[in-house]
Amino acid sequence: MTPQPNPQAGAAVKAADRAHVFHSWSAQELIDPLAVAGAEGSYFWDYDGKRYLDFTSGLVFTNIGYQHPKVVAAIQEQAGKMTTFAPAFAVEARSEAARLIAQRTPGDLDKIFFTNGGAEAVENATRMAKLHTGRPKVLSAYRSYHGGTAAAINLTGDPRRWANDSGSAGVVRFWAPFLYRSPFHAETEQQECERALQHLADTIAFEGPATIAAIILETIPGTAGIMVPPPGYLEGVRALCDQYGIVFVLDEVMAGFGRTGKWFAADHTGVVPDLLTFAKGVNSGYVPLGGVAISGAIADTFARRPYPGGLTYSGHPLACAAAVATLNVMEEEGVVEQAARIGETVLGPGLRELAQRHPSVGEVRGTGVFWALELVRDRETREPLVPYNPQGEANAPMAAFGAAAKAHGLWPFINMNRTHVVPPCNITEAEAKEGLAALDEALSAADEHTAR
Ligand code: PLP
Repeated sequence: MTPQPNPQAGAAVKAADRAHVFHSWSAQELIDPLAVAGAEGSYFWDYDGKRYLDFTSGLVFTNIGYQHPKVVAAIQEQAGKMTTFAPAFAVEARSEAARLIAQRTPGDLDKIFFTNGGAEAVENATRMAKLHTGRPKVLSAYRSYHGGTAAAINLTGDPRRWANDSGSAGVVRFWAPFLYRSPFHAETEQQECERALQHLADTIAFEGPATIAAIILETIPGTAGIMVPPPGYLEGVRALCDQYGIVFVLDEVMAGFGRTGKWFAADHTGVVPDLLTFAKGVNSGYVPLGGVAISGAIADTFARRPYPGGLTYSGHPLACAAAVATLNVMEEEGVVEQAARIGETVLGPGLRELAQRHPSVGEVRGTGVFWALELVRDRETREPLVPYNPQGEANAPMAAFGAAAKAHGLWPFINMNRTHVVPPCNITEAEAKEGLAALDEALSAADEHTAR
């Protein structure tokens, strides 16, 4: 579809937004949201007709791009047949979505509890773990994001928690591995892995293993910087959970459904959690949907004892029809394989090549269509290009990077001193190369702020 300029319509959309929409995570008067006129595949456009290649997949959810015709048609068909129905009934779209998800989740995660998004999935997963074990505490990592609702924000290890933090009763935080900024002063991946596992074992010992219901980890932490864990780490956490009867929750809200080049990031390791949370890519975000995939043992806990939790729109038929269609499209069009191939042959090599030429790039890391560039003022000291939790003027270098990317037709994902390269899983080779070329220009703007 060719974008048709219509600045007047855009101005009206913008005016109503500024008058009445209260935006998340924002100071309402300091933001200037782009009025978006349309979207298709890997692109969206504004009312002036300017097109952007979306290297953010929305908020990392359009895993098959915008407006896939088969998914749009499935939503329309479901709307004609049965737009909504309460969760206590068995309806076709819901049971088929659950069947297809359970088929793909690892191990015996065969029962699906549906939610409307990721935070609700995290809320329910931790609740299930507490009820299953009869224990009160949950261990979660710094440098993590688990959602914006009460329990989920308290489990989150980034500055957005601070304003909401009421002492975080029952949450104990630990450091997960991240070699580039190692909390353990490690120099190799193996050292980082060993020290992170020892630290976690110590945390468990000092908290009292019999008080810990769950350990929750993003399989590959996303929002906090796409930090692929060192080989052996997740296996080590699994072993600690087994040793102490702790429920292992893997949060795959961002990493799941093809993003890492496998159906789930856990599939890179063979580790099977007891609970797995998902959302976003399950239906490419076309209609809100999330959920918890539940192991046989935890499902058994609630076989004859009611699970005291639920949501009015759990397993909404429109959202589930979108999931069924999305999963079928991913299968038919080889979308997971496409993500792996683009990561290996285009994005990985392309980003590493950019890192060689741009002094602002401290590290490139990732897999599939899930990459982060760590931008630094100084490669030697690894001083970040902007401070942790930058405010106002302190963010100027990243703002310059973002403005340059947009000027070259690329919509970048920016978080603190990083840009994340997280396009749709079915991005084409030509589109990925177009994005890399724009990123090259944007990094030149970031280079201006280095301490060369
Ligand atoms: N968990 C992870 C790993 C996420 O990345 C997110 C959102 O980005 C969430 C949970 C929260 O999901 P939602 O915003 O759908 O509530």
